[in-house]
Amino acid sequence: MLRASLPSCPVHAALAAAGLLCVLAQPPAAGAWGNEGHRLINRLAASTLPADVPAFLRSEAAVHEIEYLGPEPDRWRSPAEPELNAAQAPEHFIDLEPADALGPLPRRRLDFEAKVFAAGQRPEKIGLQPWEATEVWERLKAALRAYRGLQAAGKDTRGVEAAALFYAGWLGHYVGDGSQPLHTTDKYNGWVGPNPNGYTTGHQIHWQFEGPFVAANLHEREVRARMTAPKYLGGDVFDNYVAYLRHTATYVEKVYQLEKAGGFVGAGTAASREFTADRLAAGASMLRDMIYTAWLESANPAPDPYAGK
Ligand SMILES: [Zn+2]
Repeated sequence: MLRASLPSCPVHAALAAAGLLCVLAQPPAAGAWGNEGHRLINRLAASTLPADVPAFLRSEAAVHEIEYLGPEPDRWRSPAEPELNAAQAPEHFIDLEPADALGPLPRRRLDFEAKVFAAGQRPEKIGLQPWEATEVWERLKAALRAYRGLQAAGKDTRGVEAAALFYAGWLGHYVGDGSQPLHTTDKYNGWVGPNPNGYTTGHQIHWQFEGPFVAANLHEREVRARMTAPKYLGGDVFDNYVAYLRHTATYVEKVYQLEKAGGFVGAGTAASREFTADRLAAGASMLRDMIYTAWLESANPAPDPYAGK
């Protein structure tokens, strides 16, 4: 879904100055990647988890629940919950250009926010994607560690299973957003800066690409066929996730090229349909691998936070 602070909102600047949100008239089924794209990414990830992941995460009921949760954070954008909306809207994107201009990305959200404020800027203008995704992934890993503990002790695991399913589905939203190139750039809804190739500067491209075009043209079969084989993401989760976002960002100009060729109108072009299927598949593959990695790493013993106190 488009961020709250869209340049197409005529009173955005004044409202922002007043500390208020700009409430836009969203398309009725609005959602990042649209509802359809997010549901598809989550469903494909959950239904392709390796067999050594516990069955409660792979069952038909689990796939259904994780799919339902794909668009969940977009359900938190209502003016009926203004504080929630203001806090969570920046978690769907990061504009890598202004973020990188401030130096290396700190690992912790509050360190990044402090850096942004110190530069006289606002975190909600730049975005908080990698921190939110990392934190939700860590919630999932903590829940899966608790699951292992309860199971080993012969106790009821139904409560923690529900928690883990929620975290996995919630995580899927951000990982899905992270495969959409326009969620990684200050060119998120119209080209900005030097424009020798004459890319659109209108404010339609974001929703046109991720909403109606996906809903009308992309189907599970062709996206599933483009997914990678499951793998354990060794190494550091934050570094892995930022690398994933940077790879996505390499496709920003491609989106504008496809738009210029009429790729997101109606049925688009073969190139635009293949590109979009690849992006959705990249999101589904990454989500599946992050859930798998959380499961494997949940076996690692956790240090006691109260040791020595
Ligand atoms: Zn989103």
